[in-house]
Amino acid sequence: DGDVRRLIAGNWKMNGLEDDLAEVTTLAQRLETPRPDNVDVVICPPATLIAPMHALQFDTIGLGAQDCHTEESGAYTGDLSAAMLRDAGACYCIVGHSERRDYHGETDEVVKAKLAAALKADLIPILCVGENLETREAGKAVDTVVAQLKAAFPGAGKGVVVAYEPIWAIGTGKTAGPAEIEEMHAALRQATSPDTRLLYGGSVKPGNAAEILAVSNVNGALVGGASLKADDFEPIVRA
Ligand code: PEP
Repeated sequence: DGDVRRLIAGNWKMNGLEDDLAEVTTLAQRLETPRPDNVDVVICPPATLIAPMHALQFDTIGLGAQDCHTEESGAYTGDLSAAMLRDAGACYCIVGHSERRDYHGETDEVVKAKLAAALKADLIPILCVGENLETREAGKAVDTVVAQLKAAFPGAGKGVVVAYEPIWAIGTGKTAGPAEIEEMHAALRQATSPDTRLLYGGSVKPGNAAEILAVSNVNGALVGGASLKADDFEPIVRA
Protein backbone atom coordinates (compact mmCIF):
# COMPACT_ATOMS: atom_id res chain seq x y z
CA ASP A 1 0.00 0.00 0.00
CA GLY A 2 3.04 2.26 -0.32
CA ASP A 3 1.64 3.75 -3.52
CA VAL A 4 -1.69 4.81 -2.08
CA ARG A 5 -1.78 8.50 -1.32
CA ARG A 6 -2.49 9.13 2.33
CA LEU A 7 -5.49 11.02 3.64
CA ILE A 8 -6.04 12.59 7.03
CA ALA A 9 -9.63 13.75 7.42
CA GLY A 10 -11.07 15.67 10.34
CA ASN A 11 -14.72 15.30 11.31
CA TRP A 12 -15.83 18.32 13.32
CA LYS A 13 -19.28 16.80 13.94
CA MET A 14 -21.69 19.40 15.38
CA ASN A 15 -18.89 21.68 16.52
CA GLY A 16 -17.85 24.96 14.96
CA LEU A 17 -19.09 28.51 14.65
CA GLU A 18 -17.68 31.28 12.51
CA ASP A 19 -15.13 32.08 15.24
CA ASP A 20 -13.58 28.69 14.65
CA LEU A 21 -12.43 29.76 11.19
CA ALA A 22 -9.43 31.21 13.04
CA GLU A 23 -8.48 27.67 14.09
CA VAL A 24 -8.63 26.27 10.57
CA THR A 25 -6.73 29.29 9.25
CA THR A 26 -3.98 28.57 11.76
CA LEU A 27 -3.91 24.96 10.63
CA ALA A 28 -3.71 25.93 6.95
CA GLN A 29 -0.85 28.31 7.65
CA ARG A 30 1.08 25.73 9.65
CA LEU A 31 0.65 23.17 6.88
CA GLU A 32 2.29 25.56 4.42
CA THR A 33 5.77 25.01 5.87
CA PRO A 34 7.10 22.47 5.62
CA ARG A 35 4.31 21.38 3.34
CA PRO A 36 3.43 17.70 3.67
CA ASP A 37 3.38 16.56 0.05
CA ASN A 38 2.45 12.90 0.38
CA VAL A 39 -0.86 13.37 2.17
CA ASP A 40 -4.23 14.95 1.50
CA VAL A 41 -5.73 16.88 4.39
CA VAL A 42 -9.48 17.35 4.61
CA ILE A 43 -11.73 19.05 7.15
CA CYS A 44 -15.42 18.14 7.33
CA PRO A 45 -16.94 21.05 9.24
CA PRO A 46 -20.64 21.49 9.94
CA ALA A 47 -22.36 22.30 6.64
CA THR A 48 -22.79 25.95 7.65
CA LEU A 49 -19.02 26.43 7.55
CA ILE A 50 -18.28 24.78 4.21
CA ALA A 51 -18.86 27.92 2.13
CA PRO A 52 -17.05 30.29 4.53
CA MET A 53 -14.07 27.92 4.66
CA HIS A 54 -14.13 27.54 0.89
CA ALA A 55 -14.01 31.33 0.57
CA LEU A 56 -10.73 31.34 2.50
CA GLN A 57 -9.17 29.36 -0.40
CA PHE A 58 -6.77 27.20 1.60
CA ASP A 59 -4.65 25.22 -0.78
CA THR A 60 -3.40 22.89 1.94
CA ILE A 61 -6.86 21.80 3.13
CA GLY A 62 -9.70 20.19 1.21
CA LEU A 63 -13.27 20.30 2.44
CA GLY A 64 -15.82 17.63 3.08
CA ALA A 65 -19.40 17.32 4.26
CA GLN A 66 -20.49 15.00 7.06
CA ASP A 67 -23.60 13.62 5.37
CA CYS A 68 -25.78 14.13 2.30
CA HIS A 69 -29.30 13.22 1.24
CA THR A 70 -30.00 10.39 -1.17
CA GLU A 71 -31.95 12.62 -3.57
CA GLU A 72 -30.77 15.54 -5.70
CA SER A 73 -33.54 17.94 -4.66
CA GLY A 74 -37.12 17.95 -3.51
CA ALA A 75 -39.43 18.14 -0.53
CA TYR A 76 -36.97 17.07 2.17
CA THR A 77 -37.12 19.85 4.73
CA GLY A 78 -33.86 20.43 6.54
CA ASP A 79 -31.79 18.16 4.30
CA LEU A 80 -28.91 18.96 1.96
CA SER A 81 -28.15 17.25 -1.33
CA ALA A 82 -24.71 16.21 -2.46
CA ALA A 83 -24.89 18.75 -5.31
CA MET A 84 -25.54 21.56 -2.79
CA LEU A 85 -22.57 20.52 -0.69
CA ARG A 86 -20.41 20.40 -3.80
CA ASP A 87 -21.72 23.83 -4.70
CA ALA A 88 -20.70 25.14 -1.27
CA GLY A 89 -17.13 23.90 -1.82
CA ALA A 90 -17.01 20.33 -0.53
CA CYS A 91 -14.96 17.74 -2.42
CA TYR A 92 -15.56 14.84 -0.03
CA CYS A 93 -18.58 13.56 1.87
CA ILE A 94 -18.68 11.22 4.86
CA VAL A 95 -21.46 8.64 4.52
CA GLY A 96 -22.63 6.07 7.04
CA HIS A 97 -20.95 7.50 10.10
CA SER A 98 -22.00 5.41 13.11
CA GLU A 99 -23.64 8.47 14.68
CA ARG A 100 -25.86 8.79 11.59
CA ARG A 101 -26.61 5.08 11.65
CA ASP A 102 -27.47 5.23 15.38
CA TYR A 103 -29.23 8.57 15.78
CA HIS A 104 -30.89 8.77 12.37
CA GLY A 105 -31.57 5.10 11.78
CA GLU A 106 -29.53 4.95 8.59
CA THR A 107 -29.52 1.42 7.22
CA ASP A 108 -26.94 -0.08 4.87
CA GLU A 109 -29.43 0.53 2.07
CA VAL A 110 -29.68 4.25 2.86
CA VAL A 111 -25.91 4.50 3.18
CA LYS A 112 -25.51 2.86 -0.22
CA ALA A 113 -27.91 5.37 -1.78
CA LYS A 114 -26.12 8.29 -0.12
CA LEU A 115 -22.79 7.01 -1.40
CA ALA A 116 -24.19 6.81 -4.92
CA ALA A 117 -25.63 10.33 -4.58
CA ALA A 118 -22.23 11.64 -3.46
CA LEU A 119 -20.44 10.03 -6.41
CA LYS A 120 -23.03 11.39 -8.81
CA ALA A 121 -22.35 14.91 -7.53
CA ASP A 122 -18.59 14.40 -7.92
CA LEU A 123 -17.95 14.17 -4.20
CA ILE A 124 -15.48 11.57 -2.96
CA PRO A 125 -17.39 9.46 -0.45
CA ILE A 126 -15.77 8.47 2.83
CA LEU A 127 -17.73 5.35 3.72
CA CYS A 128 -17.66 4.57 7.46
CA VAL A 129 -17.97 1.03 8.73
CA GLY A 130 -17.38 -0.40 12.18
CA GLU A 131 -18.58 -2.84 14.80
CA ASN A 132 -19.95 -2.28 18.28
CA LEU A 133 -18.37 -3.73 21.41
CA GLU A 134 -20.79 -6.64 21.64
CA THR A 135 -19.93 -7.74 18.11
CA ARG A 136 -16.21 -7.38 18.78
CA GLU A 137 -16.46 -9.44 21.97
CA ALA A 138 -18.46 -12.12 20.17
CA GLY A 139 -15.57 -12.51 17.71
CA LYS A 140 -17.72 -11.37 14.79
CA ALA A 141 -16.08 -8.01 14.07
CA VAL A 142 -14.41 -8.86 10.76
CA ASP A 143 -17.41 -10.64 9.24
CA THR A 144 -19.80 -7.92 10.36
CA VAL A 145 -17.69 -5.06 9.07
CA VAL A 146 -16.93 -6.73 5.73
CA ALA A 147 -20.67 -7.37 5.28
CA GLN A 148 -21.38 -3.71 6.09
CA LEU A 149 -18.77 -2.65 3.54
CA LYS A 150 -20.10 -4.93 0.81
CA ALA A 151 -23.62 -3.66 1.37
CA ALA A 152 -22.62 -0.15 0.33
CA PHE A 153 -19.34 -0.32 -1.60
CA PRO A 154 -19.98 0.30 -5.29
CA GLY A 155 -16.92 -1.54 -6.53
CA ALA A 156 -13.27 -0.84 -7.16
CA GLY A 157 -12.12 2.09 -9.23
CA LYS A 158 -14.77 4.52 -8.04
CA GLY A 159 -12.45 6.48 -5.79
CA VAL A 160 -14.38 5.67 -2.64
CA VAL A 161 -12.50 6.08 0.65
CA VAL A 162 -13.32 3.58 3.40
CA ALA A 163 -12.97 4.42 7.10
CA TYR A 164 -12.89 1.63 9.65
CA GLU A 165 -14.24 3.08 12.87
CA PRO A 166 -14.90 0.63 15.68
CA ILE A 167 -17.86 2.20 17.48
CA TRP A 168 -16.41 1.41 20.88
CA ALA A 169 -13.35 3.50 20.02
CA ILE A 170 -15.16 6.65 18.88
CA GLY A 171 -14.87 9.50 21.35
CA THR A 172 -14.02 7.06 24.14
CA GLY A 173 -10.25 7.41 24.33
CA LYS A 174 -9.98 3.68 23.51
CA THR A 175 -8.33 2.68 20.26
CA ALA A 176 -8.19 -0.66 18.58
CA GLY A 177 -4.79 -2.29 19.01
CA PRO A 178 -2.41 -2.55 16.04
CA ALA A 179 -3.19 -6.27 15.64
CA GLU A 180 -6.94 -5.65 15.56
CA ILE A 181 -6.52 -2.83 13.06
CA GLU A 182 -4.17 -4.90 10.90
CA GLU A 183 -6.58 -7.84 10.79
CA MET A 184 -9.55 -5.64 9.89
CA HIS A 185 -7.68 -3.61 7.27
CA ALA A 186 -6.36 -6.77 5.60
CA ALA A 187 -9.97 -7.96 5.26
CA LEU A 188 -11.08 -4.54 3.95
CA ARG A 189 -8.22 -4.53 1.44
CA GLN A 190 -9.35 -7.90 0.13
CA ALA A 191 -12.92 -6.69 -0.16
CA THR A 192 -11.96 -3.47 -1.99
CA SER A 193 -8.93 -2.91 -4.21
CA PRO A 194 -5.19 -2.18 -3.91
CA ASP A 195 -5.76 1.53 -4.50
CA THR A 196 -8.71 2.06 -2.16
CA ARG A 197 -7.73 4.41 0.63
CA LEU A 198 -8.45 2.71 3.96
CA LEU A 199 -8.59 5.01 6.97
CA TYR A 200 -8.71 4.12 10.64
CA GLY A 201 -10.85 6.20 12.98
CA GLY A 202 -11.53 6.11 16.69
CA SER A 203 -9.74 8.27 19.25
CA VAL A 204 -6.77 9.02 17.00
CA LYS A 205 -4.58 11.52 18.84
CA PRO A 206 -1.10 13.04 18.37
CA GLY A 207 0.24 10.43 20.82
CA ASN A 208 -1.02 7.35 18.98
CA ALA A 209 -1.17 8.50 15.34
CA ALA A 210 2.30 7.34 14.27
CA GLU A 211 1.74 3.83 15.60
CA ILE A 212 -1.68 3.52 13.96
CA LEU A 213 -0.53 4.97 10.62
CA ALA A 214 2.33 2.48 10.50
CA VAL A 215 -0.05 -0.50 10.47
CA SER A 216 -0.16 -2.25 7.14
CA ASN A 217 -3.08 -1.29 4.87
CA VAL A 218 -3.77 1.85 6.90
CA ASN A 219 -3.64 4.77 4.44
CA GLY A 220 -4.76 7.51 6.75
CA ALA A 221 -7.10 8.47 9.55
CA LEU A 222 -10.52 9.89 10.21
CA VAL A 223 -10.19 12.07 13.27
CA GLY A 224 -13.01 13.46 15.41
CA GLY A 225 -12.15 15.25 18.65
CA ALA A 226 -8.50 15.79 17.80
CA SER A 227 -9.37 17.57 14.52
CA LEU A 228 -10.85 20.61 16.25
CA LYS A 229 -7.58 22.19 17.30
CA ALA A 230 -4.62 22.91 15.02
CA ASP A 231 -2.32 21.95 17.94
CA ASP A 232 -3.71 18.39 17.83
CA PHE A 233 -4.46 17.98 14.14
CA GLU A 234 -1.17 19.24 12.70
CA PRO A 235 0.96 16.60 14.52
CA ILE A 236 -1.44 13.89 13.32
CA VAL A 237 -1.00 15.07 9.71
CA ARG A 238 2.76 15.10 10.16
CA ALA A 239 2.72 11.59 11.67
C1 PEP B 1 -15.26 9.96 14.41
O1 PEP B 1 -16.35 10.16 14.92
O2 PEP B 1 -15.18 9.88 13.16
C2 PEP B 1 -14.10 9.81 15.28
C3 PEP B 1 -13.11 9.07 14.87
O3 PEP B 1 -14.14 10.45 16.49
P1 PEP B 1 -12.97 10.52 17.62
O4 PEP B 1 -11.67 10.73 16.90
O5 PEP B 1 -13.35 11.68 18.48
O6 PEP B 1 -13.01 9.20 18.33
